[in-house]
Amino acid sequence: MRIKSKSYVMPTYGNKNLEFYKGKGCYLYNKKNEKFLDFASGIAVNSLGHCHPKLINALNKQSNLLWHVSNLYIIKKQEEFAKMLCKKSFAENVFFTNSGTESIECGLKIIRGYHSFHKTGKTEIISFDGAFHGRTFGALSAQKNKKYTNGFGPLLSGFRKIEFNNINKLKKAINHKTAGIIIEPIQGEGGIRPADLEFLKFIRKICDQKNILFFADEVQCGFGRSGKLFSYEWAKIKPDLMAVAKGIGSGFPLGACLSTRKACISMTQGSHGSTYGGNPLAMSVGLEVLKIISDKSFLKRVDKTSRYFWKKLKEIEYHSKIISEIRGAGLLLGIKTKINNLKFSSKLKENKLLNVPAADNTIRLAPPLIVSYKEIDKSISIIKKVLEEIE
Ligand SMILES: *Cc1c(COP(=O)(O)O)cnc(C)c1O
Repeated sequence: MRIKSKSYVMPTYGNKNLEFYKGKGCYLYNKKNEKFLDFASGIAVNSLGHCHPKLINALNKQSNLLWHVSNLYIIKKQEEFAKMLCKKSFAENVFFTNSGTESIECGLKIIRGYHSFHKTGKTEIISFDGAFHGRTFGALSAQKNKKYTNGFGPLLSGFRKIEFNNINKLKKAINHKTAGIIIEPIQGEGGIRPADLEFLKFIRKICDQKNILFFADEVQCGFGRSGKLFSYEWAKIKPDLMAVAKGIGSGFPLGACLSTRKACISMTQGSHGSTYGGNPLAMSVGLEVLKIISDKSFLKRVDKTSRYFWKKLKEIEYHSKIISEIRGAGLLLGIKTKINNLKFSSKLKENKLLNVPAADNTIRLAPPLIVSYKEIDKSISIIKKVLEEIE
């Protein structure tokens, strides 16, 4: 339903009641200078928190030199960033975008292009229930979630949706037409549902056997979020393709599609492009973010703080009548509730703990990766207080 509103902005985001004026580290401040603990991080975006001094410096420096030039010209920072991304992952080639859904779109085209080049006759792409891959037609077709697709049909053909974490059903669904499999190693919007490591290993195996491309959507769970730089690492496998965005720019609009050289055989001159993709401003920020996050001691710290957070949440889960499950990995954690998750989420926000609701009656806690023990303790005391109030 369309509600009459005075806003000139399309009402796609629903009602809002919070406005922030500035941010620093893990905190957001309103005009009255009240501070909110930001465990939403712009939906897993502000990986290094708000206004990180090194990112401000990188952005300022580049903004005084050059903001944008076309991909018609050499962009050295793009080469440098792409090389570093490849050295730190499975990938050999990178395409830069400005968002998650564009990175997905690029990967879907790579899958189709690969099989078209090799004349395999394979066109079908398998995805899983609960998945979220973005809002463009390709991404919508790959998730087939009525919540997002209703009213926008017809979608693209050649996509199939299978039950998440079900090896047998996946085995049955794969046939001579199967071209690619797209999966979030940890589903975000779907309610912080991690894929079983065995499931990911099975996908890798069957993809190798049947010349199918394995496409990991790490838009939300990548870039240190899971306690490793990329969450496929937990399963000790490597995908053929990976979409990233969100945490890659810590708030600067940026995304990328990473690929093995073999998989992106069809990405030849003129086959794909983006006006903004990989511009100097975005590349300076992205490079700085990756330098910080990919540092071994940084990731070790994320792993340590996230284990502490997990332990504290598990203690609450044990005592609570309202929580049905704590799940996730690293600093992408979900609390599944027995009450309405939206109500629980609002109550936490009223107590100045920002969080994001997700499907399957969960709320999401995704603090900046720089979160401290003290800030985790503070969030825990707010959660406890709210649970006591509700009980
Ligand atoms: C957010 C998200 C997307 C879409 O990213 P946008 O930048 O909003 O286009 C795709 N996949 C996953 C897993 C996401 O969490």
